[in-house]
Amino acid sequence: MIFSFLFLLSFLIVINCNSQSDNSEGNSNPDNYRDKKAKNIILMIGDGMGVSHIYAGITANKGHLNIEKLMDIGFSKTHSADNYITDSGAGGTAIAIGYKTFNAGIGVDADTIPRETILEYAEENGKATGLVATSAITHATPASFIAHQPSRYLYEEIAGDFLKTDIEVFIGGGLNHFNKRKDDVDLTVALKDKGYQLVYELEGLKKINSGKLAGLLYEDAPPKYSEGRGDMLPVASMKAIEILSKDKDGFFLMIEGSQIDWAGHANDTKYIVDEMLDFDRTIGKVLEFAEKDGNTLVIVTADHETGGMGLNNGDLEKGEVIAKYTSGNHTGVMVPVFAYGPGSDNFRGIYENTGIFYKMMEAFGFSINEN
Ligand code: MG
Ligand code: ZN
Repeated sequence: MIFSFLFLLSFLIVINCNSQSDNSEGNSNPDNYRDKKAKNIILMIGDGMGVSHIYAGITANKGHLNIEKLMDIGFSKTHSADNYITDSGAGGTAIAIGYKTFNAGIGVDADTIPRETILEYAEENGKATGLVATSAITHATPASFIAHQPSRYLYEEIAGDFLKTDIEVFIGGGLNHFNKRKDDVDLTVALKDKGYQLVYELEGLKKINSGKLAGLLYEDAPPKYSEGRGDMLPVASMKAIEILSKDKDGFFLMIEGSQIDWAGHANDTKYIVDEMLDFDRTIGKVLEFAEKDGNTLVIVTADHETGGMGLNNGDLEKGEVIAKYTSGNHTGVMVPVFAYGPGSDNFRGIYENTGIFYKMMEAFGFSINEN
């Protein structure tokens, strides 16, 4: 009697736990999201964000992050065309163009041939486009989506490539690459001529609600979250969404949490956690938009892991993380891909980083240009 009572009790507890987790953290994907086309895609890249970085954030936040709401999950193989360990140029490029390239390549394939990026395909198909980063906007990851250069370090050439496209919104650092150049050309003048509203500080974003926007908020790299950048990433991301969502044809937006990588290079656990939580707050706001919109595919992934980070101990109640590192550089491990919204189920499984490009093309319903 007592045994069957205990058995029943434990059964009830199990059921209770399940229903609680379903209610509080469950995926609110609509039933009809499978095989549906996406009007909008928001691609969020945590540079250098491996599973340890994510779990460090979960631990620091005492058990949960917004990223857990994306429930279609896969893994991406990140090696580049010429190296087991990718850099952010080849890593971003693989996602942007669907070709593996050599380390440091930007928007070109392994033979240095420029290939059309997902952002350029979106422009060509009448959609609005944007880039937001917590690095210089000319830095490797955002550059991969808009520029075509043999090296990520050609910052001034990359800045010039922004003028060859019709991107509607870009917000980050890197003003110097536009207006303090070796060739003395001031590209901010050319941007104004093309109809961009130039904004040089975060506050200034508030006044812009439509039209083209170039937010060059810092001369070079934005500071760390903990050293004054504050809510630049969530604020800039939501401003980009506000403007881009006015296009009735839809939009493509890439948002990068750039400094998770820099923190990984520094093997600085507190810096990683700060940047991870900032990125996750942005994920939360983006998901709020996507849930309301219903036609937006959100993808959260990384270009590679940085630091060979391991979590050697921690405390979920105190939010304490104890990490060790195997590298001051990137490592070769697979990185997670999280998806939410129309077409999200296509992101399950293990695939090459180039697969993310093809899955986005499929979600948009675009076909590849043969040339
Ligand atoms: Mg980057
Ligand atoms: Zn790096």
